[in-house]
Amino acid sequence: MSGVARIRASIDYQLQPISTMKHLLTLAAFAAASLTPLCAQTTRILSPDGLTYLDVKLSDGRLSYSAGYRSILKAKKKGAKADTLDVPVLLESPLGVYTNVADFSKDLTLVETVHPEGTIKHSYHLRQGKQSEVNSEENGFGLVLTTPEAKKGGVLMTVQFSVFNNNIAYRYRFLQGGETGSIVVTGEASGFRLPTTATAFICPQSDPMIGWKRTKPSYEEGYIWDEPATTRSQYGHGWTFPCLFRIPSSALVSGGLPTANDSWLLISETGVSSNYCGSHLSDATPDGLFTIAFPMEGENNGFGSTGAQLGLGNCKTNGNDNVTGFTPWRTITFGPSLKPIVETTITWDVVEPLYEPSIDYKGSRNTWSWILWQDASINYDDQVKFIDLAASLGWEGCLIDGGWYEHIGRKGMEKLFAYCKQKGVRPWVWYNSNGGWNDAPQCARQCMHNSIVRKQEMKWLQKHGVAGIKVDFFPGDKQETMRLYEGLLSDANDYGIQVICHGCTLPRGWERMYPNYCSSEAVLASENLYFSQGFCDMEARHACLHPFVRNTTASMEYGGTVLQKRLHREPDKGNTRRTSDIFELATAIAFQSSGQNFALTPRNLTEQPQLEIDFMKQVPTTWDETRFIEGYPGRYIVMARRHANQWYLIAMNAESAAKTITLSPSLVLNGFPVENITLLHDGPDGQTPQQSTVTPDKKGRITLTLQPQCAAVLF
Ligand code: CA
Repeated sequence: MSGVARIRASIDYQLQPISTMKHLLTLAAFAAASLTPLCAQTTRILSPDGLTYLDVKLSDGRLSYSAGYRSILKAKKKGAKADTLDVPVLLESPLGVYTNVADFSKDLTLVETVHPEGTIKHSYHLRQGKQSEVNSEENGFGLVLTTPEAKKGGVLMTVQFSVFNNNIAYRYRFLQGGETGSIVVTGEASGFRLPTTATAFICPQSDPMIGWKRTKPSYEEGYIWDEPATTRSQYGHGWTFPCLFRIPSSALVSGGLPTANDSWLLISETGVSSNYCGSHLSDATPDGLFTIAFPMEGENNGFGSTGAQLGLGNCKTNGNDNVTGFTPWRTITFGPSLKPIVETTITWDVVEPLYEPSIDYKGSRNTWSWILWQDASINYDDQVKFIDLAASLGWEGCLIDGGWYEHIGRKGMEKLFAYCKQKGVRPWVWYNSNGGWNDAPQCARQCMHNSIVRKQEMKWLQKHGVAGIKVDFFPGDKQETMRLYEGLLSDANDYGIQVICHGCTLPRGWERMYPNYCSSEAVLASENLYFSQGFCDMEARHACLHPFVRNTTASMEYGGTVLQKRLHREPDKGNTRRTSDIFELATAIAFQSSGQNFALTPRNLTEQPQLEIDFMKQVPTTWDETRFIEGYPGRYIVMARRHANQWYLIAMNAESAAKTITLSPSLVLNGFPVENITLLHDGPDGQTPQQSTVTPDKKGRITLTLQPQCAAVLF
């Protein structure tokens, strides 16, 4: 096989066989292009709808890109062709990778450009997430590059760009063209330059080995809210994904005209498996450039590389190799509103399942004693109470949290598993991920850190009908740790077990990549309501933020829906909840996770209004469709999710003043009822949960007034 043919065969665009043929034909047509370096030439790729653009430029040996959307201007004359106006949201930003064989950020020469013919369609089923059947389309573009240094070992770098409507994704791949068969990636030049007037909703990356028993970083830091994107991060290590930015309309001058709207932009990554480390964003330079930052040296107790070890893609020795040598995808979602941000599926569009599910995994609503009854409830008798609660609610599961090994023991657990079976409730069991990476003492530990011990453990769990495990206290973002996650998920699938991660990294495409993956914490979650009154005071703001940021790129195991007024086992102790009851019900829809460990307690059954219990009995955890209607991060949100034929529309107000909104749900939600809609609301005083039936006016409108930290649910 000639060198060029080998390159062609090893660039993967995830095409169907027929398109692959077309793709190769196109490549042949472009063979001539490989002779002429694309010097200082910009290539523009448009999305299938023609409204999202990506410009890629190779100039003086450096590769860069910029992106934006095209605003359609009103035609000057009737019948005349409408002009479009470029609205740049991502300014010229560098691309490239630093490796131990060469610096692929400079001295780049073009070997080949690749234009896949036509639009590439992605149609897939997502068992869990915001949408069950996804049909998305992209236009692709690729470059094959080398450098004088890399040529010596015959290493080639490809950059693969995918331009979807309102989304851009790109990744690198390293190919073998000579002796060198593997490389170490030490960093990336990949950058994201924003207008300096951009504001941000972002979380700092924490110092390593700090916090509870030296378990950080675990994506549990506070946000900056709409503050300048060039703000210095709290710890000086930059910001964790996903990162949301608002670009004020005044910053988007194009052709001398300011745009009418603010623009919104979400940066994240997907497709991180054992092949790479998890990345985050650096602090921005004063002129607005963020770059990809790798894990910190001190993570995982200082053990393991901060970089990534990659085998090179090679069809000659690896058969039809389309898996090796890839980096994860960098994803950028943007547009003139928040709709593309909340509805994006880019995280899953560009990844593929890495193995087959061993069983038909299902979503689960679980009771969970620990969240309000804490460590002291991890005993046999209290767990029976929560298994009974799950059975009363008709929920699928009960989560038995940390400490069971010491306080219940294996024999006691087997009795509880048998009791679960009798009650028709599936048990979920907590584990410590340790290992040797931190000091978290909770048991059971030393059961999940390597394949030998966890397969023994999982065999026991499977035998007793355990549906899933919740594994806690993971050690950061190094490739070493990504291998731990992947091994754990893959082994668990062999035993038909789902996995929830806590004290962990952001999942990046895992809902699709690992079929038995359930959910991750990676957020300041409901446990902080118990720990801090200040967090209770902020609860509504966070709830109105997560659908735009953390929860839009990945499942979020928050452990929400607290119906007790005080956060404690005793009725008159603990922090005071500030949100209304209906607000708490709405979070069950707002927070997306196919496994929900809700914070209901046995007392709720007798103390709460029946309408609340009835709602929680029927609330689903998996969704066929998600639609954003209106809102602003941290202030309020109106959104809807559909499960089968049932839409659930929620409106949540985190502001300190009452808010009146007018909705036309049947006009914007396909199949939303036009009459006799069930409305749950907090009453005019914001404190008296009520259920009523409403019918929109002749124009399909419903007007609602939401008191501060109150909500409405319509279905
Ligand atoms: Ca936690």
